[in-house]
Amino acid sequence: MASKCRRLSGPIIRELLDSVESVLFDCDGVIWRGDEAVTGAADVINLLKKNGKRVFFLTNNSTKTRRMYVDKLRKLGFNASEEDVFGTAFCSAVYLKSEAKLNGKVYLIGSNAMKQELQNVGIPQVGVGPDPITGVQIDWANIPLDPEVKAVVVGFDEHFNYMKLNRALQYLSNPECLFVGTNTDTRLPLEGGKAVPGTGCLLKAVETAAQRQALVIGKPSKFMFDCVARQYGLDPAKTLMVGDRLDTDILLGSNCGLKTLLTLTGVSTAADAEAHRCSGCPLRLGMVPDYIVESIAELLPALQA
Ligand SMILES: [Mg+2]
Repeated sequence: MASKCRRLSGPIIRELLDSVESVLFDCDGVIWRGDEAVTGAADVINLLKKNGKRVFFLTNNSTKTRRMYVDKLRKLGFNASEEDVFGTAFCSAVYLKSEAKLNGKVYLIGSNAMKQELQNVGIPQVGVGPDPITGVQIDWANIPLDPEVKAVVVGFDEHFNYMKLNRALQYLSNPECLFVGTNTDTRLPLEGGKAVPGTGCLLKAVETAAQRQALVIGKPSKFMFDCVARQYGLDPAKTLMVGDRLDTDILLGSNCGLKTLLTLTGVSTAADAEAHRCSGCPLRLGMVPDYIVESIAELLPALQA
């Protein structure tokens, strides 16, 4: 087995970049942190494109449409178009339309961005926005359901509450009703070491109530890569996945046979990677990256030469 966790430096960077046609970037913690670009990241991405590499952005965040991502990317200096962006709001809509061939409405625990992406593929939804509690338990169990709802989709929803949880349970009591989750990230890290609950918490609550497991769209699920690969004919062996999380980005890369690069500007540390490498546990070995950099800015010299 080739050595893992290699620190990238001069000649190895050139060798790695020469060996790939496409580069997939996670966003938060990789190319930006919150609303600020990682120093040098825009130059890296723009030069990769100039050097003929195909660049795509893969993010588990379900709160933005492709359009919204492109606006943010361009504002921060990245050369990008909507077709380059694969977020879980978009990929969930693609899944329901093209894979599940959904013929009906979605009960959506999610954001306006998810509603928009569903609309873009012609799928109607109900459920976005606040859903205040009324009545008593027997009313909740007999809450009127929309007979056209054929799927429950769970993404990030700042209005998540008991009533939504109950509605999802009632829809999912029908075994024919599809159950899709955007991602399982349990926490959203913020600057200064703070964090807020992520979609994974909401999804777990719905799974627990419904006593069913959701089909998950986001990384490390293979569907996210398939979504890009099918459309653009990517060769996994000639694709590099760059991410800041071992349990999503790097595991996706391993699951799909991609080369993997961990950048230390986000969630995971080199010590985390090393602990997985020494664990001897097959599942954890999938979370060991091929290469490690402090920041993707380390790719710059090789691209400028
Ligand atoms: Mg990230």
